[in-house]
Amino acid sequence: MTRPTQAIIYSSALRANVQRIRELAPQQKVIAVLKADGYGHGAVRVANVLATLVDAFAVCSLDEALVLRHAGITTPILLLEGFFSVDELPIIAAQQLETVVHTQWQIEHILASQLPVKVWLKVDTGMHRLGFLPEETEAIWKRLNQCDTLLKPVPLMSHLSCADERQNKTTIEQLSVFNELLRRISTEASFANSAGILAWQATHCDWVRPGIMLYGVSPFPDTVAKDEGLQSVMQLQSALISVKQYRKGDSIGYGATWRCPQSMPVGVVAVGYADGYPRHAPSGTPVLVNGRRVPLIGRVSMDMLAVDLRSQPNAKVGDVVVLWGRNLPIEEIATLAGTIPYQLLCNVSQRVPRIER
Ligand code: PLP
Repeated sequence: MTRPTQAIIYSSALRANVQRIRELAPQQKVIAVLKADGYGHGAVRVANVLATLVDAFAVCSLDEALVLRHAGITTPILLLEGFFSVDELPIIAAQQLETVVHTQWQIEHILASQLPVKVWLKVDTGMHRLGFLPEETEAIWKRLNQCDTLLKPVPLMSHLSCADERQNKTTIEQLSVFNELLRRISTEASFANSAGILAWQATHCDWVRPGIMLYGVSPFPDTVAKDEGLQSVMQLQSALISVKQYRKGDSIGYGATWRCPQSMPVGVVAVGYADGYPRHAPSGTPVLVNGRRVPLIGRVSMDMLAVDLRSQPNAKVGDVVVLWGRNLPIEEIATLAGTIPYQLLCNVSQRVPRIER
């Protein structure tokens, strides 16, 4: 028997989420963001499901793109952080990858390389992370556009810093900066992440770049997938590997932080922080045992956690335990653990087998 901890990946949910994106942005082309191993879902697996449904993929770096190419994925792939050294450029060209350019040395090297590469010019409209300042963008775009070897068009792209806050005026300011540039530069453009797609229609431009919503997770702090018409793609599950009765006053787990208020059954689940379950999930965080909520108790260990089974006296070793998924929103678990669903998904470790359904 193998350890029962698994991440079930529902490919039908992935497809449904693309459908939802198409409804929200019917005129736009879709760049599915698969960085960080497809937000922990397995980039190759996700790419195989989505290859015919989206227009391009985006990853962080060349290494991530090569994993997809070596798996036979022929869809266009955009490198969101661009290239880190000139040695990458011939590979980018040979593999027909597309690269963001966000800094001056990249511009000089890409122009000097005379390679037939497609570049996306990144503009800093207010996030102040990567990208050229709006006032320097037009001149740089013209240089790229005039270069005979680079593939055309040279699109402009920018990233939203606060789109997950529906009323935040930063998004309006960023949009106004971007639109002003697009009045002067006639080319394709990309701006919207998931929150932009869902809440800020004016940011849709020509290409949308959904990440988290593809995986059936709300980008907003106050809603869950269902509220946004999305279907959760990953279910993290395990099983009870021990069920025992403890006495009133017995302490549970490291640090003896939780004590039984009465004689009670306690279950041990084969999942811990080494699997990616958040160590800071407090006592009371729900898990599903046989489909019903029970609270986590005590500290999360590396490979295990404990649950209060008073409401389920018949629970037994082998019963399925769900840590998050369709019926237990990851958004809720992330909030309780003081983090965001993005981090929980990316942290699901390699030792957890992904099982596609
Ligand atoms: N575009 C860029 C440049 C990103 O860095 C990301 C993710 O961080 C995305 C799009 C997708 O964002 P989200 O997962 O919020 O949809």
